[in-house]
Amino acid sequence: MHAVCIPYPAQGHINPMLKLAKLLHHKGFHITFVNTEYNHKRLLRSRGLDSLSDLPDFRFETIPDGLPPTDDDNVTQDVFSLFDSLSVNGLEPFRRILRELNDGVGSPSSDAAPRVTCIVTDEQLVFPMEAAQELGVPCVALWTASAVSLVCYAHIPRLFEEGLTPVTGAKGLTKEYLDTVIEWMPGMKDMRFKDFPSYVRATDPNDAMLNFILKEMSRGFKASAMVFNTFEPLEQDALATILSILGTIPVYTVGPLHLLADRIKDDRSKRIDCNLWVEQSECLEWLDSRQPESVIYVNFGSIAVMSPQHLIEFAWGLANSKQSFLWIIRPDLVEGKAAILPPEFVTETEGRGLLASWCRQDEVLKHPSVGGFLSHMGWNSTIESVSAGVPMLCLPNFGDQQTNTWLACTKLGIGMGIDEDIKRDQVEMLVRELMEGEKGIEMKAKAIEWKEKAKKASGADGSSSQNLDKLLTDILCCPT
Ligand code: UDP
Repeated sequence: MHAVCIPYPAQGHINPMLKLAKLLHHKGFHITFVNTEYNHKRLLRSRGLDSLSDLPDFRFETIPDGLPPTDDDNVTQDVFSLFDSLSVNGLEPFRRILRELNDGVGSPSSDAAPRVTCIVTDEQLVFPMEAAQELGVPCVALWTASAVSLVCYAHIPRLFEEGLTPVTGAKGLTKEYLDTVIEWMPGMKDMRFKDFPSYVRATDPNDAMLNFILKEMSRGFKASAMVFNTFEPLEQDALATILSILGTIPVYTVGPLHLLADRIKDDRSKRIDCNLWVEQSECLEWLDSRQPESVIYVNFGSIAVMSPQHLIEFAWGLANSKQSFLWIIRPDLVEGKAAILPPEFVTETEGRGLLASWCRQDEVLKHPSVGGFLSHMGWNSTIESVSAGVPMLCLPNFGDQQTNTWLACTKLGIGMGIDEDIKRDQVEMLVRELMEGEKGIEMKAKAIEWKEKAKKASGADGSSSQNLDKLLTDILCCPT
């Protein structure tokens, strides 16, 4: 069996795809993992390596992303330009890889891979599905976001039909408008307009992203099967709705993928890693020196950005809370410039705060010194926090992060939301509440319950492990 795995080229998509690839590899698949040339170069350069894998049956290939070259080739690329560019330019080079892999079959070279038997693509890439159809092999689509976000995306056309989006009325995007309850959402009756993915807040009828989503939803879902990085009890209602949205496409929940992948013993692919930034190992060493559950871990993921003014408000809220913190500030976190913190912030927090630019997040979340996570609520961060039993403060930035905030706060009981227009007093109050307050204790207890459920789902007989086996036998025709 030979799976060609292709993630959408951003960190939050590469990570779950790599875990899924490792799980398939462990089940005996030959893997070809396709990155963009831009990301591949970044990965090699940051590690000083010539190759990302020394395994003959886990190989990397690249395709160009079609974007013009930039002065700085070590930064987060614009996700929307990548969508456009790959949808136009992705198919031909991808076809070429498949052709070369299949042409090599039977060659005497020890490098030759078996014939491609399936494609595993990010759901947001359409061209790999076309290529799979041409080749006559199944195409499994990995939805790397939450199940609730898919339900929301599927209902954006209805918001559009009802004139709720784009928000073009005279009043505009007021607080009252954002708080409008959308009563017809199946299984999510208390959901407000502001809990939908942020793209519905568009005020221009020509808004590129909103129109892109409407177009994507009208194309429908085409894969042979859809795989979700979630587990049944976590998103039960949304998953039930998804069955009716996807119709005949079979659905497999196989999350948390990182927990399933962690369980692989004797994993030859363990060393393969696709972190686009270099991790600072001192974060874990510093955590070793702190008291149990005394540190709030702050990280806004790989894409979210802040205005300089919000950075300052946030920093003072954190400093004034008097809590210990580990704050990861990506070099490109602040819009248009380097993140500059006031010198007084550094003096004020000396001895109780560590600033770093990237860490091994799943390890940090598991560390006993971490008592809370202040997150932008990307889905990977959310499910990693759930898996580690860590309650959250939610500061969503864009996309499905608003929807994940709703899930964490209203359904799972493990989150409290911070206003998107960041104010230091609120940050200070909520950080204190999370780390020392009654609500923090309640959320911690709930988070531990979810951690146990995640562990059960990903255990040897758990629902996600069983679903992965079913995916192999039903769709990928592989005995388990
Ligand atoms: N991540 C990490 N170290 C960091 C920041 C992020 O390892 O310092 C990982 C994190 O564990 C997660 C991914 O990067 O797997 C970010 O994905 P997520 O969906 O949370 O957010 P996105 O970056 O897509 O907004």
